[in-house]
Amino acid sequence: MFDARTAMLLLAFGDFCAAAVLLVHGVDERGRGMRLFLLGRVSQAVGWLGMGLRGIDADMAVILPANALLYGGFALESAGLLRFFGHLGLWSRRFLTLVVCGAVIAQAAAFDWPYLRQSLGGLALALCLARPGFLLALTPGGTALRRFMGAAYLACAGALLANAAVFLLVRATGDVYAQGIDQTLAGLLLYLVMLVGSVGFVLLNKERADAELRRAATVDGLTQALNRVTFLARAEELVAMAARTGGALSLLMLDLDHFKAVNDTHGHAVGDGVLRDFSARVRARLRPYDLFGRYGGEEFCILLPATGARAALAVAERIRAAMPREPFHGLPAYTVSIGVAVLGEHSTLDDLLRESDLAMYQAKAQGRDRVRLRRAMESEE
Ligand code: GH3
Ligand code: MG
Ligand code: MG
Repeated sequence: MFDARTAMLLLAFGDFCAAAVLLVHGVDERGRGMRLFLLGRVSQAVGWLGMGLRGIDADMAVILPANALLYGGFALESAGLLRFFGHLGLWSRRFLTLVVCGAVIAQAAAFDWPYLRQSLGGLALALCLARPGFLLALTPGGTALRRFMGAAYLACAGALLANAAVFLLVRATGDVYAQGIDQTLAGLLLYLVMLVGSVGFVLLNKERADAELRRAATVDGLTQALNRVTFLARAEELVAMAARTGGALSLLMLDLDHFKAVNDTHGHAVGDGVLRDFSARVRARLRPYDLFGRYGGEEFCILLPATGARAALAVAERIRAAMPREPFHGLPAYTVSIGVAVLGEHSTLDDLLRESDLAMYQAKAQGRDRVRLRRAMESEE
């Protein structure tokens, strides 16, 4: 429907613009594939430019390098997306290299059969686009943006395959330069991938950065427990609900024993390691809806919804018993003292915090490495 050379020049122009935007935006490389993606766009732009300026009937000295840049560009785009998802392993790199090298060699070998060249070229591009397309579209829990991008990549790969098949089966016997609906479709979808891919890749990065920011605002970086503010806010809601419905609820206050001595003896880094290890052991023993927060330095809180005294004591005892009795992996043995408070009638979160703290200090006073319980009563004011 439209002239192929004009389409190629438009794609080149679009790729250059997209590359410029990415470059101006700043390539923030943290294993996110931005650099690869940008390189891919530039390579595609130059490739399309070469093809567009000279046409597919130009001589080998133009066609081959232009095609190599084009296939390389699509492979780099694919690699950038794969890296974003952490899937750019050795085999993916080998596969993409094989596709690019194979396609270029095939172009040279089939130089006198333009229909075959066109067909192989389309196949190579489709192979580059398909894997990121499937990853984007089908990875569970993907956002609408990811699925939309995936659909665009897969549609383009599909159109390129159809185009390749038509070249091989129909145009091989007719006019190679004749325009067909398959070619128009492939051209349009290549344009779509140029647009959606570039905008989408920036948005993918933003989506991930936003999620990381949200996480950093709610979770303690060292231990991955909820931070104090988030823990207290969520705990407040659960206590209010339990108080209103008359449901059971318990709060555990946990404090590592002689933790200052751990730091003094082994250094702060080992102390941090103990805190991380402690947090992992605790989380492994909680249910998904229990709240686990870092209350202060080496003090943690656990809120157990719908849990009465007996069950809360069992949880606390299970956690206490899960601490390492022997040094391991460069960390010393350590213990924890736990105070348990159970929600009483009309008691608030503050009551629970105070009572569990008192219970924890009882545990400390009675020799540490133990669990003590208090029932939170209405504060006397
Ligand atoms: P006790 O058994 O009575 O609880 O003794 P303790 O030594 O654990 O108590 P104390 O409150 O005196 O010491 C807490 C120590 O925790 C002091 C502080 O340096 C250390 N600490 C707090 N936050 C961190 C942290 O993020 N990393 C490390 N390595 N140490 C921390
Ligand atoms: Mg302590
Ligand atoms: Mg303490």
